[in-house]
Amino acid sequence: MAMRSSHEDTLIYNTSAIVLRRMDYGDHDSILTLLTREKGKISVMAKNAKKSVKRFSGTLELFYVIELVIRENLRMAYMMEASVEEAFETIRSDILKTAYASYWAETVIQFMEEGVRQEGVYSLLVHSLMGLDLSLRPAEEWSIYFQLKFLELSGHAPELSHCQVCETDVDEIDHIRIRFDIKQGGLVCNHCGGPSPFRIDLSKGTIKQLIWFQKSEPGKASMVRFSKQALNEGLGFLEVFLAFHLEKELRSLKFLKKIRN
Ligand SMILES: [Zn+2]
Repeated sequence: MAMRSSHEDTLIYNTSAIVLRRMDYGDHDSILTLLTREKGKISVMAKNAKKSVKRFSGTLELFYVIELVIRENLRMAYMMEASVEEAFETIRSDILKTAYASYWAETVIQFMEEGVRQEGVYSLLVHSLMGLDLSLRPAEEWSIYFQLKFLELSGHAPELSHCQVCETDVDEIDHIRIRFDIKQGGLVCNHCGGPSPFRIDLSKGTIKQLIWFQKSEPGKASMVRFSKQALNEGLGFLEVFLAFHLEKELRSLKFLKKIRN
């Protein structure tokens, strides 16, 4: 719900949002990067963030899902008040989970344009954080899920079902390991191309599990688990593929890799 105030250029509305980043601004204020349900990624100023316990009551922590009221003029958006919907305490108390959540948050920050509504991405991030928090499956599986679905929503879904050149179905490709071409965004069978710096070797088993994950919702697919090898291979592949589209390796990914080792 939005309403115009008496000044034509001021808009007041409420929305749900995930806190992606928080930066101090001067001695008292904070600037938050939020993924909102209504308006996609936005930056808001929280005046007196450190003092206004009443208005914000500890709602400004990373990965919190909050309900907030925003006042926006042509220059800046201000956070008026907020309350916590989901705190995800388990994530914050676990360094590996924090590292995964930070990686997802930075991916969203880097990929998404400011102010463009993307409800699918919002739902995906809330859903993934919830799963990570509840530990229904390993953190690594949630990261595979998040990255696969995020790539799909941003129009970069990896094509894993057939060779990009001869279109042979993955089931009919007669090799245990098949190359994925990062530039072409799909598989290239051994008859159609050799090794290259842009090609990653994947086992057929990993490819099959990724395809199955692409098609399923994790809640409905809880009976099937990635093997250890497929987990490592799948994660490594998706992190390289995302970095290729971002044209850089994110700081949070470097941190994640350090924690994982
Ligand atoms: Zn081929």
